[in-house]
Amino acid sequence: MTENAELTASFTELYGAAPEGIWAAPGRVNLIGEYTDFNDGFVMPLALPHTARAAVARRTDGVLRLHSTDVPGGVVSLRVDELAPHSGHGWAAYPAGVVWALRDAGHPVTGADIQLTSTVPVGAGLSSSAALEVVTALALNDLFALGLSAPELAVLGQRAENAFVGVPCGVMDQMASACCTEGHALYLDTRDLTQRQVPFDLAAHGLQLLVVDTRVKHSLGDGAYAERRAGCEAGARALGIGTLRDLPYEGLDAALDALAAAGEDESVVRYVRHVVSDNHRVEQVIALLDAGEVRAAGPVLNEGHVSLRDDLRVSCPELDLVVASANAAGALGARMTGGGFGGSAIVLVEEEAADAVAKSVTEAFTSAGFATPGVFPAVPSAGARRLGPAA
Ligand code: ADP
Ligand code: MG
Repeated sequence: MTENAELTASFTELYGAAPEGIWAAPGRVNLIGEYTDFNDGFVMPLALPHTARAAVARRTDGVLRLHSTDVPGGVVSLRVDELAPHSGHGWAAYPAGVVWALRDAGHPVTGADIQLTSTVPVGAGLSSSAALEVVTALALNDLFALGLSAPELAVLGQRAENAFVGVPCGVMDQMASACCTEGHALYLDTRDLTQRQVPFDLAAHGLQLLVVDTRVKHSLGDGAYAERRAGCEAGARALGIGTLRDLPYEGLDAALDALAAAGEDESVVRYVRHVVSDNHRVEQVIALLDAGEVRAAGPVLNEGHVSLRDDLRVSCPELDLVVASANAAGALGARMTGGGFGGSAIVLVEEEAADAVAKSVTEAFTSAGFATPGVFPAVPSAGARRLGPAA
């Protein structure tokens, strides 16, 4: 049985009737541009081959039933007109939040039966949560003929996560899951959601981008996002600009001097330096990819890691060890990706060196007494789509 036939069969057994369709939405890694999306800046994610899939059927009686094959426990049954932000529901808050966000925006979603299943590693910084939101949003958009665009669905997914689940995140993850295309990285301007698909055909260049899942999540990260965000906002305020996006890279040194002279906290100076220089690194990587000089992006990834480690201070020993051991084994460049404090790193490597680099990183983890990392190639894959049957 194909994977989709299996999902159809288990949906039918669970809910007593066949689904109207099956949809998929991927997880992502971010190539460059970290902690920039809440500063109206640039990011450059690519979709993974790993996806969340949803089998869905409409209901007209106001009932929303949710089930995931990946978590223990039965069906979560809710009423769409009683959905309220911050009301718990565990994992089910992600898809329920999408229904809430759609209805809150005035869309007539009258209920649904939904079964989810996912191959996106959970909590590894690869956006399993955004994949759930986007696959739910796309399925409901199709079934209820809402006519929303992929970016509009992404923004609704972000609203679900921010306002309903209560996780502050930028829009990158949902935009990546909704809008990426095979063989490309997505250059996204988070100010106005302008986007461009940048060719990133690793295989054609004889390269691989390895994802190294450190399998750790340090609790230190919990308050760090809000603290970095507040620091960036303080920096922009002190500079008299709306957001750090408004500070051009050419003006960075003068701005840092001005912040120091004004007695601004030294952490604010570091955060500003990271955000403005990482925006610049996105532009550097785009220019390199457009010129077909993919290998030359490696050193830029390394610089991005140093900036996240030393200026933003969101790395951790495991992530630093991936970067150091991969580079020592001959990688072209590496950096942590996502929010940090654990999660995953990416490593750009010659195809023929990929196995040896993966082995070196794994051995370095063993020597350091860390858990065995998960290593796999990030093949730039398609964004959210309907898998079948045709509408
Ligand atoms: P990330 O998005 O980086 O993987 P998050 O903490 O943002 O990590 O989201 C992980 C949460 O998303 C899980 O704790 C769970 O609540 C939910 N989730 C992700 N995938 C699934 C799944 N397949 N089934 C049910 N819940 C899931
Ligand atoms: Mg997430």
